[in-house]
Amino acid sequence: MTAPAGSGPARPPGGCAAGAAGGGPTASAASRAGATSFGGAGTGVRDIIAGGAARGAAAYLHLARERYQAALAAHDASTPLEFPNTAYHLPIIFSVTGRAVQTLADAAWVLEEAERLIPAEPASRLWTPYLGATLDAGMAALWLAEVIQALTYLGVGPAPVDGIWLGAADDVIMRARGVEFVDGSAPGFAAVTGAAPSVEAAVALAREMQQKSLYVFMAGEGRECNELIGHHQDPRCAVARETTFAEQLAEGGVQLGWDTRLVPFGRDIFAHVYSIGFAVRVAMAFGGVKPGDHRNLLAYTKDRVFAFVVALGPVTDLQYAAAAGAINFGFPTIATGDIPAILPSGICTYEHVVPRVPLCDLVARSIEVRGLKIVVTEIPVPVAYGPAFAGERIRRDDLRLEMAGPEAPGCELLITADGVDDGRVTVVGPEVDDLPVGFTVPLGILVEVAGRKMQKDFEPILERQLHHFLNEAEGLLHVGQRDIVWLRLGRKAAEAGFRLEHLGRVIHARLHADFGEIVDKVQVTLFTTADDVLPLLERARAAYRERDERIGSLTDEAVDEFYSCALCQSFAPDHICIITPERSGLCGAYSWLDGKASFEINPAGPNRPVPKGYTLDEVRGSWEGVNSYIREASHGALERINLYTLLEDPMTSCGCFECISGVLPMCNGVFTVDRDHPGMTPSGMKFSTLAGVVGGGVQTPGFVGHSRLYVGSHKFLSADGGILRVVWMPRRLKESLREEIAAAAAAAGHPDLWDQIATEDDAVEEEEVMNFLAEVGHPALEMEALF
Ligand code: SF4
Repeated sequence: MTAPAGSGPARPPGGCAAGAAGGGPTASAASRAGATSFGGAGTGVRDIIAGGAARGAAAYLHLARERYQAALAAHDASTPLEFPNTAYHLPIIFSVTGRAVQTLADAAWVLEEAERLIPAEPASRLWTPYLGATLDAGMAALWLAEVIQALTYLGVGPAPVDGIWLGAADDVIMRARGVEFVDGSAPGFAAVTGAAPSVEAAVALAREMQQKSLYVFMAGEGRECNELIGHHQDPRCAVARETTFAEQLAEGGVQLGWDTRLVPFGRDIFAHVYSIGFAVRVAMAFGGVKPGDHRNLLAYTKDRVFAFVVALGPVTDLQYAAAAGAINFGFPTIATGDIPAILPSGICTYEHVVPRVPLCDLVARSIEVRGLKIVVTEIPVPVAYGPAFAGERIRRDDLRLEMAGPEAPGCELLITADGVDDGRVTVVGPEVDDLPVGFTVPLGILVEVAGRKMQKDFEPILERQLHHFLNEAEGLLHVGQRDIVWLRLGRKAAEAGFRLEHLGRVIHARLHADFGEIVDKVQVTLFTTADDVLPLLERARAAYRERDERIGSLTDEAVDEFYSCALCQSFAPDHICIITPERSGLCGAYSWLDGKASFEINPAGPNRPVPKGYTLDEVRGSWEGVNSYIREASHGALERINLYTLLEDPMTSCGCFECISGVLPMCNGVFTVDRDHPGMTPSGMKFSTLAGVVGGGVQTPGFVGHSRLYVGSHKFLSADGGILRVVWMPRRLKESLREEIAAAAAAAGHPDLWDQIATEDDAVEEEEVMNFLAEVGHPALEMEALF
């Protein structure tokens, strides 16, 4: 625990770390985790970084107090103080201290503790270690910034959501995006502050980060200077305009938002608490890190959330304070400006502050300093390529060519074939240059593959990948699949030289890169006239029918082995999914066939066959082989699971679940809620709160996380009564699963069940649900008691 501000003598050797043993609840995570401090760093570090962080944190305190008083003048002290739709309160404060700030009154404690943490500026004759105090200044700054930002949701300070600024990410976004960090499609995030020297430089930097699949979180102003200089008081900056990296990108015509991974949180530096808040929520949601367990929090954020700060241009005291805060979580700063370096490793994996990095080296240097693992596959197309471009929209004004969709026939078909000529791409019919601007053309994509390990069962899995493969080309939009595909080519991509032939080039390159273990040869034929597309469409529909019949007939009983998925162990170390033919992974992204194909592709990968072994309980879904696998894969954390019940030893959840089902005892049934539902459920908890209960790789009897489509499965909670137990669902989820529910309910002898399931329009309190069920005669009321 560091001394309070202005408390006199220099800290003991080891700074924060040395004082941690007797620390109270406010000591910084790094300090309390016993992290190395930076004794002996140069005077530049002391005067500029340590001094800047201390001055910056004091400025945060001043502003927080001012706004807090303004809030108290306008609102009652019991007014909720929160970010929208999150179960993690003000997450940085909650994760580090374990204390939940829920009302304006609660924030008084934060202001007091932050004040105690903020150190005095280091004295010029100080030669003992002092960067422990800098970390505390940083932590105090983050807590204060959380209060400042939360107050904006009470109308005190600038509006949190305004123009390009998106404000706080709710738990729905955090979980949906968290999956991308789990499966490796997003290697990490850059928290960018300041501004690039010009709009063009900003666009180039953002594009480079997108191509490396990084998320870019943006907050904080900078100055557009022609020279990259060290400090905001430098006179050379006096004439430069104040702007932000995000505004530069908007000016450069770049699409911003979660879909393009370029996320503008807010104009003020304080909004970077959303970046750190994202990381700590991931630790609590996926990693099972308990609020207040700062030692494990630091270990998790440092080793599993690959984040770093990018400071562009001159660095202000407010930015020094925020950067010092980020170091507490193992996130280093890479700066273009002439600020002092902090190189020794200790808290961060490698260096802590790396200055004077030219813009052209910034991404490469950041990757090196943060220790990121990035795999880039070279795709032979004349546009940028990577997952960050998958979320781009192409509006009609930007349209060069539309393919298939509602106005022209189209389909995609991937089949195993003989005589495949690897790399051959043929366009049969007109190419882009033969067609007028804005034209809609039919499109049939026939992909023929061959490979010694290729199986017919893998065809739909590979075919489904075309959506991702094609969407990741900048300026190309792909929607739908099978016979409902719809593509758009943007004007800029066409000007850059993108042609229909490149669709085939992308498919060929990605199939080899991602599925090289099972695919040896790939040839692609693109048809662009109705005369050619219609016969292909007929052939494709016959193939789709045959596949559906084959997959639909797969049951849990018909196979000897299930598949595991350990992908989420990168975030939730003890969680393991068991995927069966009738129960997909709880994220909804992996079916039993996906697991099988993935194992063929990479036997050492995240999916392994799990022999069922001796049946222990057929009704609950318990097998000896599955239990022994689970014991080992969960590192001894779990003894057994039952696949078909939520009452006893249910499967664990990492946090990626699409839905959660939970018992409603009074109704003798269960509710099912999906992550898109922001409202209350009859359990008295919103999805975000439930997710905190169910996630993190622990068994929670009475609740289970699962995919959306599992609701329609014959094995959905079959030991508990199956679909007939469902008494409440959000309206949107219920409507989207109408066919699945109706089919399962009809099979269970209750064809009218869909109408008998309550939604938020009928009831929200459990008692109201009960009344609704009695009114409509829901079968759950007649079923055997759940307990
Ligand atoms: S199947 Fe399970 S472990 Fe695999 S990615 Fe989905 S939720 Fe994670």
